[in-house]
Amino acid sequence: MRVSQFFLSTLKESPADAEVISHQLMLRAGMIRRLAAGLYTWMPMGLRTLRKVENIIREEMNKSGAIEVLMPSIQPAELWQESERWDQYGPELLRIHDRHDREFCYGPTHEEVITDFVRKEIRSYKQLPINFYQIQTKFRDEIRPRFGVMRAREFSMKDAYSFHLNKECLERTYQVMFTTYQNIFTRLGLEFRAVEADTGSIGGNASHEFHVLAESGEDAIAFSNQSDYAANVELAPVYKPHNTTDTQSQANLEKIATPDQHSIEDVCNFLKIKADQVIKTLVVKGSSSPLVALVVRGDHELNAVKAQKLPDVADPIEFASEKEIQEELGCKPGSIGPLKLNCPVLIDHAATALKDFVCGANEDGFHMKGANWQRDFENFDETTSVDIRKIVEGDPSPDGKGTVQIKRGIEVGHIFQLGDKYSQALKASVLGDDSKEQILTMGCYGIGVTRVVAAAIEQNFDEYGIIWPQAIAPFEISLIPINMKKSTQVQKACERLYEEIKQKAIEILFDDRDLRVGLLFKDHELIGIPHRIVVSDRGLDNGMIEYKGRTDKEAQQISIDNIVDFVEEKIKNSKSN
Ligand code: ATP
Ligand code: MG
Repeated sequence: MRVSQFFLSTLKESPADAEVISHQLMLRAGMIRRLAAGLYTWMPMGLRTLRKVENIIREEMNKSGAIEVLMPSIQPAELWQESERWDQYGPELLRIHDRHDREFCYGPTHEEVITDFVRKEIRSYKQLPINFYQIQTKFRDEIRPRFGVMRAREFSMKDAYSFHLNKECLERTYQVMFTTYQNIFTRLGLEFRAVEADTGSIGGNASHEFHVLAESGEDAIAFSNQSDYAANVELAPVYKPHNTTDTQSQANLEKIATPDQHSIEDVCNFLKIKADQVIKTLVVKGSSSPLVALVVRGDHELNAVKAQKLPDVADPIEFASEKEIQEELGCKPGSIGPLKLNCPVLIDHAATALKDFVCGANEDGFHMKGANWQRDFENFDETTSVDIRKIVEGDPSPDGKGTVQIKRGIEVGHIFQLGDKYSQALKASVLGDDSKEQILTMGCYGIGVTRVVAAAIEQNFDEYGIIWPQAIAPFEISLIPINMKKSTQVQKACERLYEEIKQKAIEILFDDRDLRVGLLFKDHELIGIPHRIVVSDRGLDNGMIEYKGRTDKEAQQISIDNIVDFVEEKIKNSKSN
């Protein structure tokens, strides 16, 4: 492609409203433009990458045996009423009326439509299992659309839905999809992790999220340094240590004045102790008592998702106000401690293992020192020790292998064993081999296609711009002439190289604009094209062409006779990496 026949529209400055790097670079590189909140036009440059992502996904889905369909984006309300999601889904569902005042929605997902299709089309168990997928536009009226196409309102998703006679069959397809997703993200050239996700009411190992690792990711992922174990930090359990340290008291319990010392940091500085010798007591609403105290070690953080699953804690979790604490417990939140506290107390395993610790004295301006559970806390037993803290780096991996490391990730895919939630509601059944009607079992599998493009950038960029993995770069190589308008030698060499490289089925972008070479370099680096060759009079006089990979420190001089083979080899190598 010649730039003069393409549409290139780069920006020098990043627009002020773009907070994350992928959004800034997608705007600057001329990949997308905003139409309204959460709505974006894909420009020619961006579309080339988006299509490549789609093609890889499509090829791998086809390979897995899934069959492509295309469903309407507008869906009738009746189907959503049948599944009872019309009322449950809330304001993310964009509801619309047609000219006859019939209700519809713009599809945020397609479980209802595919289940309706399958109940009408599939009659016999002999047609199962079957897995349908589509790559299609969704609309979700997100409360805070942000980060460009990362959390948009209109976005492209690959969604697949599989149908089975029983759970065992679903599990086999789920495993095939798991492997297919690994193949897809590997081919896209991204560093990713499959992460155990919240299975809600379904239970078991029934859901995995796929995350692209990037520092800017919204989710923290805990994974083992020695096994495949990976889970969202919100979910990762921290088991009770096997050999808890000896918790026999040594020091005497003492009340000490700690005037104006409220936070853990204040108290530690004041008493010259470390945060792991103090406990933090947080007060939340209870399910069967007005308040419940949750205790974690001073250096640990409460995991609200885990805490709210405890039967004694109100769900959703709600912190008690200063006023409620004052009224019920008789002091300010900064002085609360578990000893002789007038409400139920739940203690994290790591805090349970402490001895001679410091805690609030339930009296403003005072703390207790030398506290010990067995001796000083009357209700101490097995049931008061619970798992309510966030897992941290260095904790033992929950699967028992290795220790935990933490990285941030962007969710780009989600696979889920649905069971019969939708097939039951919509009465999707087939005749089994015993000639009886049997309700189908379902799985669903999503990939945020447009989000993948942004996530790839969040993982691969530098101060000059995007660094595309070869497989999804909009072009594979740039051809940049120096002073082509004046030099017929440069012009001829460029034309010849352009044709020869194109002949090799390599996607080349020939920048034939009459601009200063510095500006051309900047644009191509910003756009992130993985390879670049530069043709100049000086090089040609010596029979040389300059080559530079996007992340190479130095350019190399390659003889003009070898340059085509050289770049072909380079591109082949970066594809297989
Ligand atoms: P999130 O927690 O990010 O809101 P979700 O759980 O709502 O995601 P799913 O319903 O599982 O997402 O959708 C499948 C995939 O679609 C997600 O893994 C994500 O990659 C993508 N996706 C979801 N919402 C958006 C959005 N607003 N913009 C772009 N992609 C999205
Ligand atoms: Mg969502």
